[in-house]
Amino acid sequence: MRKNNLICLGIESTAHTFGCGIIDSKGKIYANVTDAYTTEKGGIHPTEAKKHHENVKDKVIQKALNIANLKLKDIDMVSFSQGPGIAPCLLVGMRKAKELSKEINVPLVGVNHCIAHLEIGKLMTKAKDPVLLYASGANTQVIAYDGGKYRVFGETLDQGVGNFIDHFARYIGLGFPGGPKIEKIALNGSKYIELPYVVKGMDVSFSGILTNLKQKFDSGKFSKEDLAHSLQETIFAMLVEVSERAMAHCGKEELVLGGGVACNKRLQEMCRIMCRERGAKFFVPPNEVLVDNGLMIGWLGILQQNKKEKDIDIHPYERTDDIVVEWER
Ligand code: AMP
Ligand code: MG
Repeated sequence: MRKNNLICLGIESTAHTFGCGIIDSKGKIYANVTDAYTTEKGGIHPTEAKKHHENVKDKVIQKALNIANLKLKDIDMVSFSQGPGIAPCLLVGMRKAKELSKEINVPLVGVNHCIAHLEIGKLMTKAKDPVLLYASGANTQVIAYDGGKYRVFGETLDQGVGNFIDHFARYIGLGFPGGPKIEKIALNGSKYIELPYVVKGMDVSFSGILTNLKQKFDSGKFSKEDLAHSLQETIFAMLVEVSERAMAHCGKEELVLGGGVACNKRLQEMCRIMCRERGAKFFVPPNEVLVDNGLMIGWLGILQQNKKEKDIDIHPYERTDDIVVEWER
């Protein structure tokens, strides 16, 4: 007999984080455990990140089961992040998910990472039909539901906003991850230094701003604090602008944040002001689901439990609007 309340174990492994979340059909959260690979130098090295995931995967899953006070046999379905992401990292998650689902003989579902951020944001904030500003390391997208799909209304034309911030932070000697460090020193910056402001239609671009910031830093004329402050003011204004235009275009009255960069208090404040000014609602999910996590993968697994096509594979370049939304929203 089919149970009406399923418990799903979700596995995330698209980039630096290996995560395992456990959640049921009613949205009850049992556990959300993550372990992230970090480096002092350079960005994510795919082989190193893959090794990290291989090393921690069993420990992370066991810890999630312990916190949930469940045994593997209590799990009714398994889901995994199938894309977009780094292929060797995605493979670790998919193989582990396959292994588990086989071991306990339960269904396996592959889900999209970006949509998972949006759906967990909706679950945890009670937003109904929001625009999502997804600002993470590798991704920067403004997403909303329209005409049967989650569509991307604006996005970065080059790097993700988090990678851009991390790159500049590393350049000025702050180490990795740079986002929280830039946020901290920006509080001591007060002078706004004019930077390029790059919004093209509904899209944003960061590479020219990065070059400009590096040149300004190298000139020795500007303090790190003022540069960090100006960086935040400029790029967050760009993100707020495209989010607001997407809301106006789609007639949506809610904004939800997702992605690690969304932990930034100044970005949150700017979004809050924009929403207040247009009479819209603004929601920030808890930090543990803003960053990459397995809980959102478990929840989207629940939503997609009836996914028709049995597509058990990785999709490193999957686009948000490739996904046909067959679940109830
Ligand atoms: P994700 O890829 O979603 O897991 O997020 C990771 C990215 O979020 C990294 O680029 C971090 O530097 C960035 N990040 C984390 N916290 C903050 C913050 N407080 N301000 C800005 N960026 C942040
Ligand atoms: Mg993410």
